[in-house]
Amino acid sequence: MATIPVDSRVNSKTAEFFSRQHRMLIDGRFVPAASGKTFPVYNPATGEEVARVPEAEAEDVDRAVTAARRAFDSGPWSRMSPSQRGQLIWKLADLLEANLDEFAEIESLDNGKPFSVARVADLPLSIDMFRYMAGWATKITGSTLPFSDAFHSYTLREPIGVVGQIIPWNFPLLMAVWKLAPALAAGCCVVLKVAEQTPMTALRLAELIEQAGFPAGVVNILTGYGEGAGAPLAEHPLVDKVAFTGSTEVGKLIVKASAGNLKKVSLELGGKSPAIIFPDADLERAIPGTASAIFFNQGQCCCAGSRLFVHESVYDKVLQGVSDIAGGIRVGAGIDPKTEMGPLVSEEQFDRVTGFIDSGVREGARVAVGGKRHGNRGYFVQPTVLTHTKPEMKVVREEIFGPVVCAESFSDSDLDRVAREANNTIYGLAASVWTRDLSTAHKMARLIRSGTVWINCHNVFDASLPFGGYKQSGWGREMGEEVLHNYTELKAVTAAL
Ligand code: NAP
Ligand code: MG
Repeated sequence: MATIPVDSRVNSKTAEFFSRQHRMLIDGRFVPAASGKTFPVYNPATGEEVARVPEAEAEDVDRAVTAARRAFDSGPWSRMSPSQRGQLIWKLADLLEANLDEFAEIESLDNGKPFSVARVADLPLSIDMFRYMAGWATKITGSTLPFSDAFHSYTLREPIGVVGQIIPWNFPLLMAVWKLAPALAAGCCVVLKVAEQTPMTALRLAELIEQAGFPAGVVNILTGYGEGAGAPLAEHPLVDKVAFTGSTEVGKLIVKASAGNLKKVSLELGGKSPAIIFPDADLERAIPGTASAIFFNQGQCCCAGSRLFVHESVYDKVLQGVSDIAGGIRVGAGIDPKTEMGPLVSEEQFDRVTGFIDSGVREGARVAVGGKRHGNRGYFVQPTVLTHTKPEMKVVREEIFGPVVCAESFSDSDLDRVAREANNTIYGLAASVWTRDLSTAHKMARLIRSGTVWINCHNVFDASLPFGGYKQSGWGREMGEEVLHNYTELKAVTAAL
């Protein structure tokens, strides 16, 4: 299969990985789809096919869920001590660290993101998440509830069981790790369905999972389409819980699909996050900070600062600064070390994002910078700043998921009114507030209806920080101690004395 062209700049180990005959991980074995079907994986920098992976369907989902069920109900995983579980998760972190460059290359070729970014963001965050959750494995406890001398009551926090996990393509490895690490720390068994656009790092991770020595069936990794593999997983009667990250639209389908056996659901969905610059902000930080808030990861972040609100007294300066940064970003293939911004993940996303820009212009927005395709092959879109937008426009209301920011000025000094405007969205994932005034910063932090508020920064993550959405941005939290509640049930035990 060495005929598939992979960028000549990548390491031979990475090229060899792409040229393999790829298999999914089910019940501790690497297997093709039951149907034998495969589907293509493209390099978004060129549009060329770089691999083929198995196309999982309902039968494969059923095999994986059955294996996970067995591993949970009677296998060694649920009987293993938390310390042993923690050690295995830590070992997986070590293996990932030992293969860091290879994973960053695979991610870059598969998703399009700069190799240099994957090396310093996706990979370290993934490794750290495994280590953070390895520590939690031994610290999941209940409490005693001394409400009466006649009874002895306590709670047990137990693993929820078999978990179906469905993830998107914007941070392929990191999203897999955000899901796997807490589920495994809690003692659950997992069937993970990765995004059709970006299956490669998860398939390589599957090899490390085997190498680390996880018992068969504890982690199953499926490659397949949303309708073919995601939907049967969300519906499956032997799945106790489904954890989903992706669009709000599909999140609603997941909720419907879960109704059959009322499986527990957690959702991490879209956003239309405001970045708000007050007149007293340190513009030396606020300008690059809000530019990075939208352009990081080609704008394909659920918490991207896609609505930029700037006080009128500094609007011109900020607009100029952000536009200059946008115009100066080096766009190119992710594997090129000079690249600062890669292509969008797929032709579909390219069409969607350019379609949004066109719709904005049709509705009266003006393009301050960018607005067009970059180059003539691959799925590159220029970093784009739109002005003269109005709250009712599609570009302001809907998640674009690309390098496109809508800039608006505000004149109000009343924080309630500024917050009302910032909160004027169906989403509530994140926001950033840029000011030197402590009181403004913390008042705004309270007024904003979102799961994360950043002050004088944006896109700062840590495994210890809970992340998730108010309103239609989701249910439950990823990371931190809170995510463990997604993967545990709480039992109250009461004994009469
Ligand atoms: P999506 O359709 O929500 O995909 C997310 C995951 O759900 C993928 O693994 C997908 O599989 C799967 N899926 C799709 N339909 C399903 C179904 N009926 N049942 C179960 N699983 C299903 O997102 P997308 O189509 O890739 O992107 C569309 C838009 O969603 C983006 O433009 C962006 O606005 C938003 N989005 C948000 C996030 C986020 O982190 N909040 C991430 C990605 C996308 P396949 O990929 O194999 O179809
Ligand atoms: Mg989709």
